[in-house]
This record gives sequence, C-alpha cells and structure tokens, in this order.
Amino acid sequence: MKPIFVPHADYQGFVLKQLRTHVGPGIVIINKDWPLLAKLWMTDLSPITTFLRDAYSDRGPEPRDPASMFRSFLLFLMTNPEKGLTECVNVLKRTPIYAILCGFDFDDLPGVGTFYDFFRRLWPAVDKNLKPMKQPKRKSKPKKGKKGEKAPTATPGRVKRLVTWMMRHADKRTALPADPLFEFFQSQILSVSANLGLLGDLSALSAAGDGTPIVTSAYPRSKSTCDCYAKGMIGCNHPRIYSQPDCDSGWDSAREKYYNGYHLYMMSAADSKYDLPLYPRLQPASRHDAVSLVMSMMECKQRFNLGVIDKILLDAAHDAEAIYMLLDHQNIEPFIDLNNRSKKNTATESDIQIAPTGIPICPKGNEMKPNGFDKSQNRRKWRCSVACGCSDAKYGRTYHTYSSDNLRLFPRTARGSEKWKLIYKRRTSIERSNKREKIDYKLESGRHRSTMMWYIRIYAIMICQHMDAWYVSQKDEWDKLKATICPTVV
Ligand SMILES: [Zn+2]
Ligand SMILES: [Zn+2]
Repeated sequence: MKPIFVPHADYQGFVLKQLRTHVGPGIVIINKDWPLLAKLWMTDLSPITTFLRDAYSDRGPEPRDPASMFRSFLLFLMTNPEKGLTECVNVLKRTPIYAILCGFDFDDLPGVGTFYDFFRRLWPAVDKNLKPMKQPKRKSKPKKGKKGEKAPTATPGRVKRLVTWMMRHADKRTALPADPLFEFFQSQILSVSANLGLLGDLSALSAAGDGTPIVTSAYPRSKSTCDCYAKGMIGCNHPRIYSQPDCDSGWDSAREKYYNGYHLYMMSAADSKYDLPLYPRLQPASRHDAVSLVMSMMECKQRFNLGVIDKILLDAAHDAEAIYMLLDHQNIEPFIDLNNRSKKNTATESDIQIAPTGIPICPKGNEMKPNGFDKSQNRRKWRCSVACGCSDAKYGRTYHTYSSDNLRLFPRTARGSEKWKLIYKRRTSIERSNKREKIDYKLESGRHRSTMMWYIRIYAIMICQHMDAWYVSQKDEWDKLKATICPTVV
C-alpha cells in the first residue's frame, strides 16, 4: 500500500498524548533530552510521505509512516551516531521516550529490516553504487602528497579539459541517484534555514568548498573474475569484482597516510554563523579537490534555487586557471589563495614586471600599491610613491591591470586588500562544517557498504546540523514550549 500522510500536527498530538499518559511512573524526561525533543517536535518531516509516494507500490501491507522512519534515523544520529543500525534499533526498544519522539507506540517498533526497506525508497536507482562492481584492475598505489601538503594537484590539463567539457554541456542536466535526497533537503530543510536568515544574504550568497576523506575500509576488497592465479600466472590484468566500486585509495594529507574510501566534497554557506552545509558530493578517494569542485559547482548551479551564489571561497589546492574561467562563466567571484610554484616575475609590454603574486613590480624593483578599481574600464590602478623615484610623474608611477588579461592574477577584489581578508577569512567555515560531520556526528562510523547508504547518512547528518542551528538561533522562543509540552521535566 501507499503510505498514509500524517500531518505534522497529528504527530505533535500523538507525542503530547503519549507524554501525558505515560510520563511519570514509567517514562521520565530529563532536562538534557529537552533540546532533542524540541528539535524533533518543531521539524516538520511529513512532506517526505508525499515525496516518496511513487516509491511505494499499491499493494501489500500498509507501510510504516515514512516521516517517523526518517525521524528515527535523525534521532539515532543525534543520540548514538557511533552505533550501527542494529544497536540503534535496540536502543529505541529500550528507551520508550525515544520511541514516542519518533512517532511510534513504544510496544510496536520497526525492526532493522524495515529501516533498510525504507532507505531503499530514498534512492531511485537500481544499483546502490554509481559504478558497476566489475571493473578493470586498478593500479596499486595513488600518488602521495608531500608532508603536510595537499594531495598532489591534478594536472592543469585535466582540470582544463573537464572545465571546457562542462561549459559546453552546462544546460544539460544529468539526473543523479542522490537527486531526490537533495530535493527533499533543499525544499524542506535548506529553505527553512534560508527563511530564518541562517545562510546569509540570499541575493548574494558566499559559498565555501573543500574536500575531506571518508575512510570506509582498511583494504580495498576485490575478487578476481579469472583463474589465472590458480594457473600460476601472477599479476594478470583481467577485470575484478570490487565490493565498493565507487571507492578507491587516496592520500590523506592530514593523517599522512593512504586510505580507502571516498573523498567527500562539501559546499557550505560561508556567511552562516552555524557553518551550514549546502551541497555534498561523494567522489572516489583519489579525486583531487580541483576536479571535485568543478563537478560540484556545475551540479549545484543546476539544482540550487533558493538564492544566488555570488562568491566562492577556496583554498590554494583549487588554484588552477581553468577554475577561474569556469567561475567567471558562472558569474561567481572566486576567492582563492595562490598556490605559487614559480618564483619568477612575468614580463609585460612595459618596463613593469608582474610578481607571481599578481603584484606589479616597478623598474626599481619595488612592489606597487593598489590604488582603487575602475569599474567602468574593469581595471585596477596601481601606484608607486614619489619617494621610490622610479618615475618623474608628479604623483609617482601608475600602472593598470585588467581582470580580463588574467583572471587568476588580477581578481576583481585585490588579494591582500582589507576587503579580500574580510571575505576570505570565512573560508574556514567549510572546515568547521566538515569537522562537525566527522567528529560530532561520527560520519565515518557508518560502516556502510553502498554509496546509497553513505549518501543517506550524509544528508541525514546535514539535516541534523540545520536542526541544531534552528534550535540555537531560536532557543529562547523554543524553550518556552517546555512548560506546555513536558511540564514534568526532571
Ligand atoms: Zn586473469
Ligand atoms: Zn617604484
């Protein structure tokens, strides 16, 4: 059967009734549980039922309420993020107050199988992974980054080819299996945060992007498809069956070791006080930040419809010419640290040289100072003081740089200017957001085998982050409800 729509007010009524009837001798609510109660009480998840209607068939027994199922998963992540699903279901059985908060009668709870059945409906694709399991044999080891440095840069040529391809196919939107999750997240969660003003200025949003490793297993697991080994031939190149086809090995520069798993590329709202996540994308571990960004930017641009992304804040691993070209094409102002490999100045047509940092150097070898941006001509003016003596001009030597000449070296906002510093310091928002997912919500404890389950876990954690922000930003108001909902808090 199709699931029956349960309005959020009905869920609230159910919780109230249960609390009124059972709290006291059998069930207690402790003060520490109040924020959890408030977050679940206030978050309307009922639209998920309408959302998933097509994923249920007309026949068969009546399914569990999808909103209650999803709410349970959020409660697991908010209370026991390090535990597996089986253990979480046990906790639910042992803790009647949790069962009530999920929207279930505490003597009639869904089992683990029901949860997996529910999760399957959030993922429309037949395969739970993006790639087929049978794949050509992989090369043994990926490239290693230098100590403390970012993962090795994808070759500039590769990023450029990808950008050129992406720009040519900008209007063509390819459906992704994680799209329903994003649609639900955007229409029911992100939109709430947007209306509360928690994402920043919607007409000119500032986004930050960065990748983070997700370790899924100690070793890549694969089986051979041939019997060469039995015949005594070692190291053949026949395809193998990989149990996690979307994962591979990459270099984790923070932990300084190889790992197996995914590279999670996340985009967040940089001006958000709560470091709120916007768009997640799973990539194989070996993928470089610059390549991931290109794909995420393209997908996000095609899907995000709550505001306009005006700026993007990225670290030096993204410093590739092609990325500036793509962002210029998308009308997004890039704020990217330079990743200078070259120490040489570049010559110009005049006697002025350009330092690798994009700053003009006067004939006497001094750095010129920024002297304003001329919007009508789209150029930046630079000046050398009279004291330098490199010119006879009354106010010293001047020089102009044009963004169109070199988007990377001459950005619209000058690197190192106060304005640049003010905007760029919000870049760390993405690092805090990724940390929250990994440390507070134990993202890597998932032990899932499929990309489907990893995406569901990531989206659920992102939803928790938004719910946390809703509570903190409206704490005084929400805490007033305590007296009505549960007057008998111990
Ligand atoms: Zn073989
Ligand atoms: Zn000078």
